[in-house]
Amino acid sequence: MTNRKGTLIVLSGPSGTGKGTVLKHFFDNYADDAVKLSISATTRLPRDGETDGVNYFFVEKEKFENMVQNDMLLEWASFCGNCYGTPKAFVDENLENGCDVILEIEVQGALKVMEKRPDAAFVFIAPPSMQELKNRIVGRQTETADVIEKRMETAKWEVQNISKYTYAVVNDDADMAAKRLKTIIDAERLKVEKN
Ligand code: 5GP
Repeated sequence: MTNRKGTLIVLSGPSGTGKGTVLKHFFDNYADDAVKLSISATTRLPRDGETDGVNYFFVEKEKFENMVQNDMLLEWASFCGNCYGTPKAFVDENLENGCDVILEIEVQGALKVMEKRPDAAFVFIAPPSMQELKNRIVGRQTETADVIEKRMETAKWEVQNISKYTYAVVNDDADMAAKRLKTIIDAERLKVEKN
């Protein structure tokens, strides 16, 4: 038996589908110390209540470009006018130490991770319907009408990629979805390691 490395778990799906709420339920109720959440870097401005280093590392465009050039990001994507990326060092250190790492990212980024890390588990969080997705984005009251339209257009493309994922979880109840995420992580931990 070797020391088991952690599993990379990529959670993605359209903006507004409730990935963040599912993760909150998961970390509040079902996670153990061996699962870590990656904090992304973004050029987006903080929303009310968001804290640097907790929700995101909020960086200037120039700093983000430096991170890309210095190969510090596992993946990155431009989404509705802002850049988002996953700092690589945190992911690799934790996987090496046997911890599982969850990325909460949009679909373009997940597709890049599928190429680079095909052994990761890819979990698509789907909305119950496109209308419900729109209701959730509008209800959040954080976006202008223009941005809502952009996010809905992007969401239509995102759901078309669902068949590329390992698992799909419909988020009609965030606590139930969090339990399903726990089941997925348990199953990943029980996989037989291949040489
Ligand atoms: P928001 O602006 O609503 O916080 O995030 C917009 C979208 O970017 C969400 O779908 C979110 O999951 C995604 N996102 C957050 N961090 C990353 C990241 O590091 N990489 C990629 N590709 N997407 C991200």
